[in-house]
Amino acid sequence: DLQTRTAELRQLDDQYNIHPFCDGKELHERGATIIAKGSGSYVWDSDGNRILDGMAGLWCVNIGYGRDELADVASSQMRELPFYNMFFQSTTPAQISLAKRLAEITPEGLNHFFFANSGSEANDSIVRLVVHFWKTEGQPEKRLFIGRNLGYHGSTLAAVSLGGMKAMQALGHEVLPDFHHIPEPHHYVRGGDLSPEEFAKKAAAELETKIVELGAKNVAAFIAEPIQGAGGVIDPPPGYWPEIQRICRKHDVLLVVDEVICGFGRLGEWFGSQYYDVTPDIMPMAKGLSSGYLPISAVAFNERISEALRMGGTLTHGFTYSGHPVSCAVAEANIDIIERENLVPRTREEIAPYFRKVLQQIADAHPLVGELRGQGLLAAMQLMKDRDSKTFFEPSEPVAIDCRETALQKGLIFRAVGSAMVLCPPLVITRQEIDELADITAASLDATAKAYGIA
Ligand code: PMP
Repeated sequence: DLQTRTAELRQLDDQYNIHPFCDGKELHERGATIIAKGSGSYVWDSDGNRILDGMAGLWCVNIGYGRDELADVASSQMRELPFYNMFFQSTTPAQISLAKRLAEITPEGLNHFFFANSGSEANDSIVRLVVHFWKTEGQPEKRLFIGRNLGYHGSTLAAVSLGGMKAMQALGHEVLPDFHHIPEPHHYVRGGDLSPEEFAKKAAAELETKIVELGAKNVAAFIAEPIQGAGGVIDPPPGYWPEIQRICRKHDVLLVVDEVICGFGRLGEWFGSQYYDVTPDIMPMAKGLSSGYLPISAVAFNERISEALRMGGTLTHGFTYSGHPVSCAVAEANIDIIERENLVPRTREEIAPYFRKVLQQIADAHPLVGELRGQGLLAAMQLMKDRDSKTFFEPSEPVAIDCRETALQKGLIFRAVGSAMVLCPPLVITRQEIDELADITAASLDATAKAYGIA
């Protein structure tokens, strides 16, 4: 029985597992949270406590836990054909079928796909694909990439270089030579006296300045998330995305919109690019593609790029598990569920507006909260030492982590990013569950405010 084994499991985890995303010493002292099962919007820890999953796993379990249908699909695909590869001019029915299904929901023009196993692999692949593309276009000098500070595109060396997470780049080798960054479009932090619209123009102009500085003839692509997720849910002010699109087109810089978090309904559209009415050239996706049930990612391309890839010789790139048939079958069934249960329009019209209304009430009333940001079912509350004078907590003050630990005790998982608390619940979350999420959030904020002497 799991409950009696929790202490033993923790001890074994401490003995054998490395958690490279965590502080090893802190984890050793605290012990890992052991999550043992899930159903709907809830998970259960190994002590049997039911916890509302306000992070949808890690921004991915859009359809919720416990879908037998996906287990059945995986089981029959595994019996039929557990694996085949893409290397011998080969593919599988499951992969072809998923590509066709994806083409039905991706924005017009993005109808060609390459499959991998994670968001990191998708973005890492994009670096090579883009360089190959410009070579076949006769512009081999176009090989510089521009990303954004606090952008997150994965954990491989190329993906870390595309991203702009200082902590991940701290060893000093992670920003490969051809990678550059512009500041994040965070009005609350960087906007000063500018209106959101004025700041949007200024933040987008930083891209043009960077392109000109590097020389447009050298710049291959700009990569950005519709909303910067792991960087703390930074949603750009109105007018930012159309300007970004205009600047990329003007300088013939490819626009890569990373849909790993925003894709598959999170903002109330199938993709974040549709929410912001922007047309990418390349679109990586993962997480919500299979709702996390199995590892899979995809890169969608437009016609121009896919032509170059088809006719431009061999890129010599691929992973053993690219287009894994079991993952493909599960991803397709996941898309079917999102569609059948109307999760995208439900998010847009019903659940996200309710979620935002409830969180806004908390944010307005609570002295600890300076800003509620995000769109759709993606949100962050910025915790402030003094919201009236706009005084931030010091990085050394673990206010969001303390708040997270309190919430976990009360039965809610959210993520702490700097001094912000981040929420990204499953799309299937109900109004009643949102009320529960709100109650625990408010109680945890109260306890944290008290501990930090903020009233
Ligand atoms: N891109 C974005 C926007 C992400 O949020 C993430 C993961 N959080 C990744 C890429 C990397 O995905 P993975 O962890 O599957 O490699």
